Amino acid sequence: MSNSRGKIIVVGAGIAGLSTAWALTRRGYKVEVFEQGPIPNPRASSYDEHRITRHAYGTLEGYGYLMPRAFRMYEQLFQDIGARHILPGSVVYFLRDPVDWYEPVSRTMTALGKAFHEIPLAEVPDRFPMIETEGLTQVVETEEGGMLFPIRILTDLTVWLGNNGVVFHSDARVGDVDPEAGTIVANGQTHRADRIVICAGAWVNKITPLVEDVVVPSRQAVMYLTPPAEYVEVWKTAPVMIDLGTDSGTYTLPPKNGTRLKIGDHVFTRSGDADGDRIASDADLARLNRAARLAYKDFDRYRVIEKKVCFYTVTRDPSEEFQVKPWGEKVWVVSACSGHGFKLGPLIGDGVAAAIAGEMSDEDAVRLTAGRMSLEEARALEGA
Ligand SMILES: Cc1cc2nc3c(=O)[nH]c(=O)nc-3n(C[C@H](O)[C@H](O)[C@H](O)COP(=O)(O)OP(=O)(O)OC[C@H]3O[C@@H](n4cnc5c(N)ncnc54)[C@H](O)[C@@H]3O)c2cc1C
Repeated sequence: MSNSRGKIIVVGAGIAGLSTAWALTRRGYKVEVFEQGPIPNPRASSYDEHRITRHAYGTLEGYGYLMPRAFRMYEQLFQDIGARHILPGSVVYFLRDPVDWYEPVSRTMTALGKAFHEIPLAEVPDRFPMIETEGLTQVVETEEGGMLFPIRILTDLTVWLGNNGVVFHSDARVGDVDPEAGTIVANGQTHRADRIVICAGAWVNKITPLVEDVVVPSRQAVMYLTPPAEYVEVWKTAPVMIDLGTDSGTYTLPPKNGTRLKIGDHVFTRSGDADGDRIASDADLARLNRAARLAYKDFDRYRVIEKKVCFYTVTRDPSEEFQVKPWGEKVWVVSACSGHGFKLGPLIGDGVAAAIAGEMSDEDAVRLTAGRMSLEEARALEGA
């Protein structure tokens, strides 16, 4: 796509869409954002109290290499919006089976110069009295991670974009995208732009056929909880915790900085429809409850404040690569979900804006966002 400073339509006001609008606005483009619901939209993947950010990326080492840049992009965004919506801290991993995790993580963290250490199993009951120790094989603490606060980020970013000339169209579901003409239809009206960026989250396959062979929506359950009285104090100082087994696993965000204790299940369902009901049924919660009982002592005594169903797209194969691709002459499609896209939102948005501005080739933007760059390439990009 050629370099031009013109008008860009962004479809979707989640972290990917708003970050792309941010990166384009900073480059001098005139941006209009179309969102099918309110802005921000509580049904979006991005809408939640907290999200994990971290350098330790398991077997997805290419994304680990991008994390120093992802953290820096967030700092730039925080500077613009005038608020630092992040709580830095460690992320502690509780491994229960011989999962393929430690080796790639130790390699990535060492290559990035980020600290990590094992916590002796004998120390776990004192430091983490809420953890079920049965079945634990290894506990590893990784530094320089923490929690991002998405609702606050989306809201402040919307305010910043509005103040910087971005036009918002809420309750405007987009259809009939013409990738060659650069037109969309919303609420019966046709709109034209020099480029269109589709950041439709779990609705992506309803608006374009481009990635439907590769990604599928995944219905995921989370719970917000009140711990039993004897664990209240220990949860207040807990880090982000991730429990990894071969067929179960949880991620848990502690109740800090005005958020609730949240537990989720990181096994993908690869089923459901983002337009469907959002009522968390017993079936939705069965696997999460089982995984949580394996991870936490006395889990049945935690009281549920809210059960929630949310959606993201995930690749049909196990790669979890984000799908960020040009479609025809005028459109980019951004599907950066797979349960790990929030921490990379501004990096992805900046990558797409760099490609539209001609600062980066389309091929490099695709490889960057798919986490396919080597450590050397990621470093070179940072120095560029
Ligand atoms: C429970 C849960 C836990 C997660 N945990 C983490 C985590 O700890 N760390 C992390 O980094 N990531 C995490 N993620 C993933 C992360 O939240 C997502 O990858 C990211 O928010 C995706 O952003 P998005 O902008 O692509 O999609 P969305 O936020 O879904 O935004 C898409 C927007 O497009 C709009 N839209 C769709 N179709 C149309 C249309 N036709 N016309 C107009 N508007 C349209 C939608 O209404 C929506 O607002 C988690 C996700 C979930 C659901």
